[in-house]
Amino acid sequence: MEIAVVGGGLAGLVAAWRLAARHRVTLFERLARPGLAAHGVDIAHGGATLRVDMPLRVYFPGYYPTLARLYDELGVASEPVSYATTFSDEQGRTYFRWRNLRWRDRSWPFVLPQDLLGARARRIVRGALRFRAAALPALARGELAGRTLAEFVAAARIEPDFVDGLLLPAVATIGTCTLADAAAYPADVVAAYHAGGLARESVRRACGGADEVAARLLAPVQRVVCEAGVTALVRDAQGVTLHRRGAAAERFDHAVLACAAPQARELMADATAAEDGALAGFRCRPLTVLMHRDAALMPARRADWSPVHAHVRAGAERPESTIWINAVQPALRDAPALFQTVQPLREPRAGTLLAEARFERALVDAASERALAQLARLHAEPGRRLWWAGAWAHRGVPLLESAAASALAVAQAIEAAAPGRAA
Ligand SMILES: Cc1cc2nc3c(=O)[nH]c(=O)nc-3n(C[C@H](O)[C@H](O)[C@H](O)COP(=O)(O)OP(=O)(O)OC[C@H]3O[C@@H](n4cnc5c(N)ncnc54)[C@H](O)[C@@H]3O)c2cc1C
Repeated sequence: MEIAVVGGGLAGLVAAWRLAARHRVTLFERLARPGLAAHGVDIAHGGATLRVDMPLRVYFPGYYPTLARLYDELGVASEPVSYATTFSDEQGRTYFRWRNLRWRDRSWPFVLPQDLLGARARRIVRGALRFRAAALPALARGELAGRTLAEFVAAARIEPDFVDGLLLPAVATIGTCTLADAAAYPADVVAAYHAGGLARESVRRACGGADEVAARLLAPVQRVVCEAGVTALVRDAQGVTLHRRGAAAERFDHAVLACAAPQARELMADATAAEDGALAGFRCRPLTVLMHRDAALMPARRADWSPVHAHVRAGAERPESTIWINAVQPALRDAPALFQTVQPLREPRAGTLLAEARFERALVDAASERALAQLARLHAEPGRRLWWAGAWAHRGVPLLESAAASALAVAQAIEAAAPGRAA
């Protein structure tokens, strides 16, 4: 079959890779490079040029079984990195810090006695233990279904210092959303992420970064069109016609929309009311990522620096998080300090900014949960030619795992619909 995949983020790349084994696949990307690797920045160091992913993305196999299997199959090497985190307040003072005890692929978060001198830090630890003790059994018993994170922590009387000082900022950092969005997250989605093994497994990054992952996934793909200018997709009984600016219309047997839900909606010239309704359930939050060299966005005391810095200001709608790139990318360990700040609340000092990129991230809430069920019903319709894949189109925190899992599920559904298979 001739198959179009629109969008070259991880979901589009994985769908294209899997389908290219048996079909002729064309991947259309809006940007100049496939989106997964489009925003990386070249950093000169030690006579070489090193590519730093923007955003830097990590995973841990316990919550990312699909991604871990995929990287194994592709031969993508990965390495453990420390994600120890320092939390600071609006004055830049550290109010909590956890470290990583790492051994091979294992990693255990721990808090040093000296980091527990403040009463707030002790209340955060008490809250963390209480949250774990309450949330994981409730998850196993199915008692979290239909409850938001805010509802669960209120009912379980979890320490407010932990909720406001660590839990919500952490969810808002992992999901790059506001603190209010984090409070509206389904409690079982957050608990399942936690249960995935973060407290015992090291997070990992692909050693060759997004470029290597994209190159391996694209190797079997017959055709890649960047800066594609796709304007619309129109269906008929035999397939899908894809329209692009300045190019002839092209026919495909199937098309996978592997872009964000609002963008997918814009491209669908003939969306049904049911499709419209489902896609409207997925909202996105725009965000900015900065690559820079301004140490002022790290904790005020150099001794408090960790690979991750969560800056949580009372009254701010979101946390600011800064990754200390030298601490997570071994080749840059001895290079001048390099930082990546996500959802910045402050501007890096003039002259220290190296790059800026904008992204959109899907939100997870009661509406997106309902929309996922509608999407599954639409995907099961007989004769379907148009499909959706993306981190938003699979249950869980929208991460590389859900992007890969949704793409493989769509590829499997298209295979099942292939001539000779349906019977
Ligand atoms: C700051 C930040 C940090 C993150 N950190 C992590 C992390 O550590 N670990 C983790 O697992 N995940 C992380 N994520 C999330 C992860 O990056 C995403 O969940 C995942 O990459 C989404 O992949 P996707 O293919 O679903 O969507 P996207 O990556 O958004 O891909 C969609 C693609 O579609 C393209 N597109 C859109 N419209 C069109 C069009 N009209 N025509 C053609 N192409 C189009 C876009 O350009 C893009 O390339 C992070 C995200 C952000 C923003």
